[in-house]
This record gives sequence, structure tokens and C-alpha cells, in this order.
Amino acid sequence: SVPLSFFGGIGGASKCGILVKGGNYMEALAHAELVVFDKTGTLTRGVFNVTAVHPDECSEKDLLEIAALAEAYSDHPISRSLREAYGMELDRSRVAEVEELSGRGIRARIDGRGVCVGNNKLMDEIGVAWHPCHHVGTTVHVAIEGKYAGHIVISDEVKEDAKAAVQALKAQGVKKTVMLTGDSRPVGESVAKELELDEACTELLPADKVEQVERLLKEKSQNGKLVFVGDGINDAPVLSRADIGIAMGAMGSDAAIEAADIVLMDDKPSKIATAIRLSKKTLRIVR
Ligand code: ADP
Ligand code: MG
Repeated sequence: SVPLSFFGGIGGASKCGILVKGGNYMEALAHAELVVFDKTGTLTRGVFNVTAVHPDECSEKDLLEIAALAEAYSDHPISRSLREAYGMELDRSRVAEVEELSGRGIRARIDGRGVCVGNNKLMDEIGVAWHPCHHVGTTVHVAIEGKYAGHIVISDEVKEDAKAAVQALKAQGVKKTVMLTGDSRPVGESVAKELELDEACTELLPADKVEQVERLLKEKSQNGKLVFVGDGINDAPVLSRADIGIAMGAMGSDAAIEAADIVLMDDKPSKIATAIRLSKKTLRIVR
């Protein structure tokens, strides 16, 4: 059973835009030992700028249009960003048979042609040779009818409060901070370095993220808790596997808000340390 004061703690947290789904999570937060983050939309803004467009044969505009059409129905931050970069109205009636391939990209039929838009892993999977990219950023390859059509380089920025958020967690006694991402190694490692995270695991599929969380759960002390923080897209399995799952609510998917124990209304990573501090304060009142 949960002491009544933890419900008071929940009220205090909600005033800060932190929605806690139960008193047990409020108590568990005081014992946060490991904080594991998703990257895109959690530590970074999830708003990508297009930094380069490299078509093989068609025009830059046509390559961007094909990518934006393939991404027309998705809520993924990359999809929203590519549509924004294309900037014009998309005729969705040209798009059929859309399939989201989590951690890899999108497959769709556009004007009757099979199109794949995604990362190196996706190109390898469909057997299309891709051009290595020398720009720093996330590479989005495009293949049409099994033939390479070119790539688009996009880049995201870390959130304004992300570095301070990581430092505040350390100040609250969190022993280790880890980032799990499906993005490439150079991108993941540069974010981890900028934010001074203890560990970064890159090029992970959603199932690999669950595996990493299970490894980290074994690593922590018996009383310590593992917190996972994600923006939601594909994060539901890890959110439920962690001791405490925190979802970024504003951008997050409904599935993530459902799977999470705590929802942050304003998507600020610094709110995690705030929640831990409130939890410790409540714990002192209870004991
Ligand atoms: P993260 O782990 O950073 O939250 P995801 O697991 O959502 O990222 O995606 C991992 C990688 O898969 C992305 O960096 C991108 O290369 C590729 N990817 C995922 N979804 C899409 C998409 N809709 N369009 C293009 N590429 C995608
Ligand atoms: Mg994500």
C-alpha cells in the first residue's frame, strides 16, 4: 500500500506539468539510479532541418517530393520534417500501401512504383547499394523500384535544457545516464558527447532497445530504479519494461502515454530531475 502523502506529491508534481499515474511511481522516483533516454524528440528537438539533397538522376525537388510523399501519413519526427522541408501541398492520392518500418524507415507505393525511404539498414535489407554520406547528420536514402535514387541529409538539435537536465540528474544522485538510439553512430556519439552522457548505444531497432534496458536492469543495485524516458514513437515496449517509464506528452504518441507511468506535459528533460526532487521531498514527509 502507498502512504497517503504520495498522493499529495502527485498533486505537487502535476502543478509542474508532471503527471504521475500512481503513488508507487512517486515513491520509486526517489530511488532513481539509472536514467535511460531515447534520443529523437527526447534529448533532441525532433525537428530536423534538411542540410543536403543528393539525387542520383532526378532533380533535388523531385527527390524531396518522393520522400515527402512516402512520409505523408507518418507522425515520425523525420516524416514531419521532410514534409515541412518539401513545403508544398502533397497529393496523398498518389500514395498507397504505406508500411512504417520502425527504426528503419517507410515503404510505400507512389504512382504505382515501389518506394523505400530510410536508413542504411533498410537499404541493406532490400538489397539496394547506397552511397556513403560524408556529411554529418542523419542520412535518409531513397530507393525507387529497387534502384538507388539518392539521399537527403537531415540534422536535429539538442533541446535547450538537455545538458542542464543531465547535470541536474547527477546532482539528484543518479549514477548513470544512457542514451539509446536507432540513429547512426556518429550522430548518436556526438549528442552523447555534447550532453556528457555516460553511455550511448546506437543503430538499435526497437527490440534492441528492450534488450539494452534488460542488460541495464541487471546492472543496477537492488533498491535502485531504472527510469526510461522516450517521446513515444516505438517506445511503448521499453516504457513498460523500465521500473519507471516517462513519456514526453506533447509530441508523444497515444500508445506511449498509455504505456508510461509518468507523462511530462511540456517535453522538457529537465523535468525529470524536478520529479525526483519532489519525490524525495514527499518521502521525507512520509517517513
Ligand atoms: P530514435 O531511436 O532516435 O528515437 P527511431 O528508432 O525512431 O529513432 O529511428 C531510428 C532511425 O531509423 C532513424 O534515425 C532513421 O534513420 C530511421 N527512420 C525511422 N523512421 C523513419 C522514417 N519515417 N523515415 C526515414 N527514416 C526513418
Ligand atoms: Mg524515438
